[in-house]
Amino acid sequence: MSYQMPRGTQDIMPEDISKWHQLEDMIRQFCYVYDYEEIRTPIFEHTNVFKRGNDSSDMVNKEMYTFTLPNSSTSLTLRPEGTAGVVRSFVEHKMYGDVDLPAKFYYVGPQFRHERPQKGRQRIFHQFGVEVIGAKNPLLDVETIALGWSFVSALGLKDMKVLINTLGDDASRDAYRTALKAHFKKDINAMCADCQRRYEQNPLRILDCKLDADKDVMKTAPRMADYLNEESQAYFKKVLEGLDALAIPYEVDDRLVRGLDYYTHTVFEVVSVNEQMGSQSTVFAGGRYDGLVEYFGGPQMSGIGWAMGLERLILACEGEGIELGEENNLDAYVVCLNDSASVTALQLVTELRANGYKSEMDYRSRSFKAQFKTVMRRRARIAVLIGEDELANGLITIKNLETKEQQSVAFDKMVETIDGIFEGRPEE
Ligand code: ATP
Ligand code: MG
Repeated sequence: MSYQMPRGTQDIMPEDISKWHQLEDMIRQFCYVYDYEEIRTPIFEHTNVFKRGNDSSDMVNKEMYTFTLPNSSTSLTLRPEGTAGVVRSFVEHKMYGDVDLPAKFYYVGPQFRHERPQKGRQRIFHQFGVEVIGAKNPLLDVETIALGWSFVSALGLKDMKVLINTLGDDASRDAYRTALKAHFKKDINAMCADCQRRYEQNPLRILDCKLDADKDVMKTAPRMADYLNEESQAYFKKVLEGLDALAIPYEVDDRLVRGLDYYTHTVFEVVSVNEQMGSQSTVFAGGRYDGLVEYFGGPQMSGIGWAMGLERLILACEGEGIELGEENNLDAYVVCLNDSASVTALQLVTELRANGYKSEMDYRSRSFKAQFKTVMRRRARIAVLIGEDELANGLITIKNLETKEQQSVAFDKMVETIDGIFEGRPEE
């Protein structure tokens, strides 16, 4: 019997939580000005929301936490990604009828994939993602990338690179698929089992193989660019022009295919080239999907989105020496020198809190010295001292730990005096 956390999971501890709060606050701010609204979909869905038809992706075929409960035939799956649930919800709530399309969503939350755990790869991880559904315009592809790019730039990340490609429309992709099958036909038996499956299900994904990447047959594979019809070329050109217009640097990578099967046209990955990232270097990635709304029973409508791994984002920040979060310091500590004063101390600490001061007191009848060590450890700006004499006279001593000045004041002047030291109320 073990009471340790399962492999590939982690506790986010109080000492790290302010990093997460900072990221979450920034996410809200960015999505607010970009006019994206938060959506919270279920953590588990019917399995067929994620497993659609003959999907070739590893995520769907090998990595899902799927379960049925006793006495039930319903198959459920812990969500491995965000897009499917959001599109399912968009259709279920008939949002395709909205006059103000496109609908613009964002989400933040845990995802579950049974992968081999490594640095930057967990079995429970967190994604911030965006989806824009109900309009097909290359400028929206650009807008979503701009949101993510400005977000990572605002954090101070510099070692970032946008890799972008197009998979074209259905007709272009069909032509390319046929060419790829012809190309790999005589070598496929010497390739990995996954590639053999992909050959049948979705030959484009062979190009995403990490095991066979160095084989000659990979290097000589036909290029998507040569199979794009005019419409697909024009669409991609407008995406790139939009990125230029916003001065977002990018590299066209015509081998980029992405791991999920539903993409059409634009696909992209924003990677950190910082050496600390190792092979888990993709911070956010996504693309356009033309068929998903229809799959869930809605009209033919296109969408675009990406998802960002927040653990990877934190690693990227660490790699570039960017400090997130803040220290858990106190504004004030009420030092209680005598047990008989402890109820008064509780009243004072409560009054401080009611006035917005992050405050603490001792609950273990510790010595003055021990309490003062806590004051220093917690970097309190103010110590409020209350002892027998003070209690008798209705006075407290307020010590400013920055200037070392102290003054005795009446109980009912405590907040006023501290306001004076802080020059108003502390920042929220
Ligand atoms: P990879 O090729 O690294 O496995 P992916 O193509 O499976 O990534 P997506 O499904 O596009 O990734 O997810 C988007 C982002 O979510 C990734 O770029 C990454 O930042 C993050 N991510 C995906 N899987 C994991 C995981 N197991 N642990 C931590 N972060 C992850
Ligand atoms: Mg993956």
